[in-house]
Amino acid sequence: MVAETEVRNVQLLIAGKLVDSAGGETFESTNPASNETIASVAKAGKEDVDRAVSAARKAFDEGPWPKMSPYERGRVIQRIADRIRERADEIARLESMDSGKPFARAKGEIMASATVFDYYAGAGDKFFGDTIPMGDSVLNFTLREPIGVAAQIVPWNFPFMMASWKVAPALATGCTIILKPASNTPLSAVMLGEICYEAGVPEGVVNVLPGPGGEIGEYMSAHPLIDKIAFTGETATGAKILKASADTIKKVSLELGGKSPNIVFADADLEKAASSAVQAAYGNSGQVCTARTRLFLGKQQYDEFMSLLVNATESFTVGDPMDPKTLMGPVISQSQYDKITEYITIGKTEGAELVYGGGRPSALENGNFLQPTIFSQVSNDMRIAREEIFGPVLSVIPFEDEEEVIRMANANDYGLASSVWTQDVNKALRVAKGLRAGMVAVNSNGGPGVFGPFGGYKKSGIGRELGMHGMELYTQVKNVYIDLS
Ligand code: NAD
Repeated sequence: MVAETEVRNVQLLIAGKLVDSAGGETFESTNPASNETIASVAKAGKEDVDRAVSAARKAFDEGPWPKMSPYERGRVIQRIADRIRERADEIARLESMDSGKPFARAKGEIMASATVFDYYAGAGDKFFGDTIPMGDSVLNFTLREPIGVAAQIVPWNFPFMMASWKVAPALATGCTIILKPASNTPLSAVMLGEICYEAGVPEGVVNVLPGPGGEIGEYMSAHPLIDKIAFTGETATGAKILKASADTIKKVSLELGGKSPNIVFADADLEKAASSAVQAAYGNSGQVCTARTRLFLGKQQYDEFMSLLVNATESFTVGDPMDPKTLMGPVISQSQYDKITEYITIGKTEGAELVYGGGRPSALENGNFLQPTIFSQVSNDMRIAREEIFGPVLSVIPFEDEEEVIRMANANDYGLASSVWTQDVNKALRVAKGLRAGMVAVNSNGGPGVFGPFGGYKKSGIGRELGMHGMELYTQVKNVYIDLS
């Protein structure tokens, strides 16, 4: 398969129509594997936000969507899932070109996104309120009502999937939506918006605005007619959104950064742990919020595991995203490439031992390609162990015992995901309980996907997406108290 070279024009989606930005401005989207322009994209400004807000407001305040039965909304959401599957190859090709991720990986994410819509298609009519017993003279119950107009701001690492995690539950609850993709990867979000209309959402329910986060994202965060902000991205951006949204007391949910520990005890299945560790550190070029970038390794089996790790890293093929053999494509941009290589320099200066990678793969001269990189004998207080690099850089940190490793794993500002590898069930459970993280995997670096809650402790966020928890983010609870006496 070859990447397309034609430059496409992408417009904003407001009130069900593809339109240019009010100011007529555009920006370019490039392919990270070549840094060639692949699209000219309408650049939304504040006036476009106002247009989208009034469409979404009207659709919520006067339109049929929030009043429709949850079952009927579910039928529309199911058609979105079906349509995503029908167009999966087309979306995956676009996503791969826009983000640099291997096509096969992109296809997997598109299919997983269809499953997210499947799940929420059946969720709306199973998300109940409570009846609260208060004796014969009172009837007290709660209603779950949609929050209203939700602005959803997503990052560039999983463009279609992050948008799906937000759009599907918001639709299921009856909210209306303004989706803002990241400027590096605006293409598939507009396609998702188009699919929503193909499936039958009423006018104004979904609006998509590619544009600069610092300008329109901030403007949306402070907008008095937007009821809710759902954000995924960097912790520093999340803090800006919280501040910008404070005066309007918006409901805010945040999925932020991570520096997730992967703890390997001496009694673990070392081969399985090593092959999983490389996928968890370098998959998507390490641009994953749950990437297991701190590998805590018991001192007893340190050397044995390191050689398994280096072998697995050597076979983690870097290359053309369209080549089926490729496991890792380029990083998203030149600036991200520069940031990661700066961290590699910092690691060396801090005294960590560079045991693999550290630069550009020799056969890949163009595009933002980096080798998977391992630092060994890292200390938990080095910057490469504390800060989110968001690239394929793994820090291996030796530990003595269970107590020490729990303390070190928790000594970090983030608390998103974590893993523990051991054959001892009691130890696994003690560590799982001891870790301050929103997600713990045992003998795995995976997770439950759409079926379980996703989110972080500490500076990794506020709220939980996915599962039925995702429905809570888009609803508010009304108590109804009836005096029957
Ligand atoms: P980013 O914070 O730079 O951008 C994310 C989105 O926010 C983009 O759409 C951007 O345009 C917008 N934005 C930028 N400035 C803004 C502002 N002042 N106000 C409102 N919106 C603004 O993040 P990124 O570089 O696109 O993504 C990488 C980050 O996302 C990493 O930190 C990663 O850990 C995090 N992430 C977290 C999760 C999670 O679920 N916890 C998932 C994926 C990515």
